[in-house]
Amino acid sequence: MKILVVNAGSSSLKYQLIDMDNEQVIAKGLCDKIGLADSNIKHKAGDGREYAAEIAMPTHSEAFEALMYALAESDAKVISSPDEIGAIGHRVVHGGTYFNKSCLVDDDVAEKVDELKELAPLHNHPHYLGIVACTKTFGKDVPQVVVFDTAFHQTMPEKAYIFGLPYEYYEKYAVRRYGAHGTSHKYVSERCADLMGKDKKDLKIVTCHIGNGASITAVDGGICVDTSMGFTPLDGFIMGTRSGGVDPSALTYIANKENITPDQMSDLLNKKSGLLGISGVSSDNRDVSAAAAEGNHRAALANEIQRYQIAKFVGSYIAAMNGVDAIVFTAGIGENDPTLRTEVCKHFGYMGVKIDEEKNLIRGEEVEISTPDSTVKVFIIPTNEELAIAKDTLEIVTNLKK
Ligand code: AMP
Repeated sequence: MKILVVNAGSSSLKYQLIDMDNEQVIAKGLCDKIGLADSNIKHKAGDGREYAAEIAMPTHSEAFEALMYALAESDAKVISSPDEIGAIGHRVVHGGTYFNKSCLVDDDVAEKVDELKELAPLHNHPHYLGIVACTKTFGKDVPQVVVFDTAFHQTMPEKAYIFGLPYEYYEKYAVRRYGAHGTSHKYVSERCADLMGKDKKDLKIVTCHIGNGASITAVDGGICVDTSMGFTPLDGFIMGTRSGGVDPSALTYIANKENITPDQMSDLLNKKSGLLGISGVSSDNRDVSAAAAEGNHRAALANEIQRYQIAKFVGSYIAAMNGVDAIVFTAGIGENDPTLRTEVCKHFGYMGVKIDEEKNLIRGEEVEISTPDSTVKVFIIPTNEELAIAKDTLEIVTNLKK
């Protein structure tokens, strides 16, 4: 079955068409600047053919039409008719407490996705628009599935998700830890169990998704028991532009001193902090590391803080699970920065974690980077959220037909 995976953002629509018979990407692309004057599409077929065009896309609906043209009619077309698409899987950032697993889209599900825009203002409404645009093109004949970034974390116990705030805010506004990157944490923890040749139920794994956004999850027996992202994808440790956890009274102090509104503070914490805020150089790990190598103190400090904070989260999750069998690194930085992996793992030398520095340099593939005598296995596992979404979609659609 060919499955179209859709990731609709506020002004963009990313997609991949995946052939689930061999799990190969048939084509992928991006509709960008939706709602702006220079909206455009860039599309690439698996065999390298490309199609790019500036097309008016006032809404996600036109973006979806452009995507279908690219797939079925352009010079880089990969299907002869939209009928070849068996199902559509949507990435959805927030599932709130409604959704603890992926599910088939119906009117009620679509409305709940939209209702959750309160918890993910930048994401859930565009996801809803993506669903509406798909329905407009395909009618109800092609099943659509929603796959939530938060769903994998819904197994956390109360002690992990309730904040130390008056309980009424949890009751009134559902303010609690939800987590993020769940599709990635689930995918790499399951791949880790496969690579170890063990049942995930018998393993304690710490998964480190370190990209521009970053989070760490404790996966005990195949389920999430704690995760570093919180109510929104801001908690945890420093990221490209996000602060991670900060003493809340530092924020009220700065807000009073600088006369900053809550929205401005949110902007400061989400867009001006983290690697960018500390280094003053860039939010991009490569730029910060390059500046550090040239002797820039603040850039070196930003790198050091990120690695130190990651190690502290890994350590706390080993404590939370009372042990660990494997540590996994994934996403842009986790997969590509050997120094970060070495520096983080050094903190666990006391318990016998050892890295093979030659294997640690391998890129772009699944690799065990710990030495044979390491007490804990350490892996690089490239994440593949699109494939994970397509797999969930296939499973749900296949069960429908039974
Ligand atoms: P992501 O959000 O998963 O796409 O990750 C983006 C981050 O990965 C950026 O900070 C990049 O600088 C970082 N990154 C990508 N490639 C490399 C690399 N070869 N070495 C170090 N960092 C990298």
